[in-house]
Amino acid sequence: LAPKYVRAIAPYQPGKPVSELAREMGLREDTIVKLASNENPLGLPASARAAIERALSELARYPDGNGFELKAALCRHFGVNADQVVLGNGSNDVLELIARAFLQPGDEVVFSQYAFAVYPLVAQATGAKGVAVPASAWGHDLAAMLAAINDRTRVVFVANPNNPTGTLLAPDALARFIAAVPESVLVVLDEAYTEYLAPEQRFDSVGALAQYPNLIVSRTFSKAYGLAGLRVGFAFAHPEVADLINRVRQPFNVNSLAQAAAVAVLDDADYLARSVEVNSAGMRVLTAAFDRLGLEYIPSSANFVTFRAPNAAALNARLLAEGVIVRPLAPYGMGDWLRVSIGLPAENARFVEVLGAALAGA
Ligand code: PMP
Repeated sequence: LAPKYVRAIAPYQPGKPVSELAREMGLREDTIVKLASNENPLGLPASARAAIERALSELARYPDGNGFELKAALCRHFGVNADQVVLGNGSNDVLELIARAFLQPGDEVVFSQYAFAVYPLVAQATGAKGVAVPASAWGHDLAAMLAAINDRTRVVFVANPNNPTGTLLAPDALARFIAAVPESVLVVLDEAYTEYLAPEQRFDSVGALAQYPNLIVSRTFSKAYGLAGLRVGFAFAHPEVADLINRVRQPFNVNSLAQAAAVAVLDDADYLARSVEVNSAGMRVLTAAFDRLGLEYIPSSANFVTFRAPNAAALNARLLAEGVIVRPLAPYGMGDWLRVSIGLPAENARFVEVLGAALAGA
């Protein structure tokens, strides 16, 4: 039988797949609007599609286990060295590899109360203890997180912007926090949504790596780069930290189509710019609708927004019945809240239409 700490793990609950809802509700898949998993509504970048088509002929061979081309592209793009890079099967994989490399039973891992659900999961799978620090205004209380660090703490996770609340930490607050964390504790700065930020909102995390050997910066191709289904994420760290993480990695953890697509989309500045533009326009539409409907929401710096609903479970059921998938936040201890990802204009309009009708009792 599995160890007690494995049996105690609450499984991750992903957004409901379109095909599943179509079956359940007898709906046509193309009428369903999925705004549940913070995916890119623009769909697969054309640059990535072309790269995937070129890479198809290599599929009988194993991928490049060291991701030479992708690491080289990341180095060019972000100004890091290849020995600082870890590639993952999504950044989820990177987070799990960090846990596997650095945690053992008895260790403690600090994160914020409403932070990404995968942090407690990967900590618990190693037998380490997750310490959830009460949030401040739905975001990280960095002072309280510092105070929660003790001799047993090995890793601190910070998501910036945070999922599922969309909150953002000011660059100087983050800089002071990283400087105050003891060097024996790894700070994992999860920047899955960083591309959506305006330049002045960004903490220079890559620049900070030279100063803090205990800093790991985690990023993903799943959001603004539009490759969620291919599963590719990456992290930058001190070469010794990156080396340790790479030792526990599966030899071929990032498949060849994902590597080829990621290389292509890194050079696709146009897709990235459109992602950010569609996101900020959609964010304005959704928050204006919440204001109009008198619904409270948490101002978000990411590609989703979390709002409070009078009866969130019933509203979610109603949205599902109408073919609109959002994310209930009960698993995060936010039972009154739903999270909606920013979609294309027509998807946002459909969500607002169904939401308005549901609230009006229609
Ligand atoms: N970190 C955060 C904060 C996230 O919200 C997500 C996606 N939901 C991830 C990491 C993981 O994304 P992926 O594995 O697709 O890179």
